[in-house]
Amino acid sequence: MKAIRVKQLRQGNPSIALETVDDPVITHPQEVIVKVLAVGLDGTDKEILQEKYGVPPQGEDDLTTGHESLGVVAEAGAESGFQAGDLVTAIVRRPCRNQSCVNCRNGHSDFCQTGEFVERGIKGAHGFLSEYYREDGRYLVQVPTDLLEHGVLVEPQSIVEKVWDQVLRVQQRLIWEPKTALVLGSGPLGLLAAITCRLLGLDVYVWSRSPQDSLQAKLVKDCGGVYQTADEDGGLTAYAEGLGKPIDFVLECTGFSPLAFEAMAVLAPNGVLALLGVTPADRKLEISSDMLNQSMVLENKCVIGSVNAARKDFETAIYRLQQMERVYPGWLDRLVTNRMKLEAVPKLDFASIPIKAVVDIVPVEQWRGLVKQTNEVEYSFSV
Ligand SMILES: [Zn+2]
Repeated sequence: MKAIRVKQLRQGNPSIALETVDDPVITHPQEVIVKVLAVGLDGTDKEILQEKYGVPPQGEDDLTTGHESLGVVAEAGAESGFQAGDLVTAIVRRPCRNQSCVNCRNGHSDFCQTGEFVERGIKGAHGFLSEYYREDGRYLVQVPTDLLEHGVLVEPQSIVEKVWDQVLRVQQRLIWEPKTALVLGSGPLGLLAAITCRLLGLDVYVWSRSPQDSLQAKLVKDCGGVYQTADEDGGLTAYAEGLGKPIDFVLECTGFSPLAFEAMAVLAPNGVLALLGVTPADRKLEISSDMLNQSMVLENKCVIGSVNAARKDFETAIYRLQQMERVYPGWLDRLVTNRMKLEAVPKLDFASIPIKAVVDIVPVEQWRGLVKQTNEVEYSFSV
């Protein structure tokens, strides 16, 4: 089968190529072979493909990339819980083997304490940018077929769902009636965060570098949010003050770390700042630490970091994407700005992607014929 591989990662001179590799075969009755329909690309893929970040599986030199997947079960082991034709996505992270890691041992590898976890397509395990992959049924999530067109967005949306779930848990400390959310950044994550906050009934403001007439700005407006191009002069503080209302919830989705500290200052009393992005560049910042410390303490503010997601976050993401399509039909289609074939990935210029790129392993018009039609997927949502 064909696969996109970052080659010779361990030799320090890696390259990206479309390779022919062995087809996966079932080796255990819990396993499933998944035929990949599409894979979404994000900032992590960009780093892996451009800056050669990424760790190949133990004993290998190459890594198949891609972690945002949508596929259909081609062959199901007898104990996998799946059947051929099931539409599925896969959880990205796999638990570490350390018996003392209580979170990995309890289905929460997204809270792994040892850092010895494995992530498909990122760290220590091949990803999904290939025609097929093998997976333990425990790490697959069934996707209802009415979400066929947008199922590839379940993984990125799971990141938003995890942080919202965490914020709700934290805010059980008080009676919290949030009215206003501020989203920093208008990449795929920021835009999904913005529309999610709209569906949660919040007034949403998005502050980002994209121009006022950009597609990003239009998408924010079209889900009822307010978009503002980041002003170099005034900065975030001036923008937030200009809103003239308390900002109960801030989602930092740019990864530009100085913004995280500015966001602490603009957060309302009892508010939560969620940090979702990283763009490592060893930045240093001089901050008014006394002022920040005082406002954090005297106003009960909370800052929470969040990475990855657990199964239930994937399940909630499915629910939320269905809700998005129902309330704002066509919005998700516009989020995906670029579609390409597997062959185009080695020469991909990430700078040419306005918002979100999806690699179609199987042409979209063939998808419906491969999938067994069922919307009877029961989950216990925790919204
Ligand atoms: Zn662990």
